[in-house]
Amino acid sequence: MKMDAQLLPEDINLNTYRQLMARYARLMEISRQLNSTLDLGTLLNRISAAATELTETQEASILLIDPNTGELRFEAASNLSGSAMEAIPVPMEGSLAGWVAKHGEPELVEDARSDSRWFGDVDKTTGTITRNLLAVPMRVHNQIIGVVEAMNKIHDKPWTSDDVNTLSALADQAAIAVQNARLFQQSDFIAEMVHELRTPLAALKASTALLLRSPLADNQREIVTIMQGETERLTEMTTSFLDLARLESGRTRLKIEAFNILDLIQECVRVVEHRAAERQITIDIAGRPCTVEADRGKIKQVLLNLLTNAIKYNREGGLISCAADLLDEGDNCPPNCARIQVRDTGYGISQDDQQRIFEKFYRVASTANDTTGTGLGLSIAYRIVEVHGGQMEVESEVGVGTVFVFTLPVAERQSLRGDY
Ligand code: ADP
Repeated sequence: MKMDAQLLPEDINLNTYRQLMARYARLMEISRQLNSTLDLGTLLNRISAAATELTETQEASILLIDPNTGELRFEAASNLSGSAMEAIPVPMEGSLAGWVAKHGEPELVEDARSDSRWFGDVDKTTGTITRNLLAVPMRVHNQIIGVVEAMNKIHDKPWTSDDVNTLSALADQAAIAVQNARLFQQSDFIAEMVHELRTPLAALKASTALLLRSPLADNQREIVTIMQGETERLTEMTTSFLDLARLESGRTRLKIEAFNILDLIQECVRVVEHRAAERQITIDIAGRPCTVEADRGKIKQVLLNLLTNAIKYNREGGLISCAADLLDEGDNCPPNCARIQVRDTGYGISQDDQQRIFEKFYRVASTANDTTGTGLGLSIAYRIVEVHGGQMEVESEVGVGTVFVFTLPVAERQSLRGDY
């Protein structure tokens, strides 16, 4: 590529510019390589090797925050074996990596040993002498998950602002790859666990069903009925864990097809209407037919969850209204999307609870004791809508009712007038 030196900033010559471009090109290549593995060990080794290469340093290491304990731990270093590092926890207070993790900013230290935040234990154990270093945070979705450190510039060259930029860009890419690998590991573990749990749970379910068919004293029947209900709940929970793990790790495969969302709403209402009738709750459906492009099975799961909740958290004799319509750009949403609403006349959800309602395991304290549930349904529904490129929101007033609204992409051939 021919470059016009006059177009470059005054303080940068053509050679430096070429080096810079080569570095960025290499960074792009490394980023692609990082995303090609989901094995955490391989990934961490690649990141530390890339950090030394890009910053022209002798060593680099990666410290990750343990999601369970909040502690920082050495996970990989370009010059060390895994077993040597695992022995070195690094304190959040009183270490440079801890400082960077807490402040979320890069930090360049020209003379490590005179810095009061320098944590010397690692050098002592490994026999390394750290002279200077650059530490940058690893951030994913605004959350710091660790720190990448590059140590000792080769030939004691000076550090540049470009080193800071390149290592920061690498750390951001690395953070996403680490997060994906962790979720992948987790979902593999959960898949195995769910599989292992299913067999004893099926046996429990069959035994309680058998027991209930035999003559039992009233109090015994009551106990076995509780056992049966709880076994059912455990089975549901294991399936939910698996769903969530798959959704979070990006392993959910969507079977996208075009279908009429109003038909699906009707189908879901038929599934739950006997439960609504038990509490004298009426369900009505409004809106025009509209063809969405989505995974029908997954959207059915979303609708069934919203409808079941609208029944569970409704008052006796209450009302549930479902609606679907097409939106255009003026409606403050992405163009060409369908809006689906499930409204109830139930207990309502306070402003504070609304902030947390889509979190895993969150159940509103005032209703948790009166109803059974896991607190996972809404977080799954939220993520299912999210992986379709849609959004889910809640509006509610305590004592009046709640409306859950979500959007889905519509089929392209459909006009916004709603005819299809
Ligand atoms: P679960 O119903 O299993 O507890 P969800 O994730 O589906 O779990 O819902 C989380 C919590 O949100 C529920 O425990 C309940 O407190 C609250 N909630 C959900 N839907 C409604 C609703 N329509 N009205 C009032 N509260 C609701």
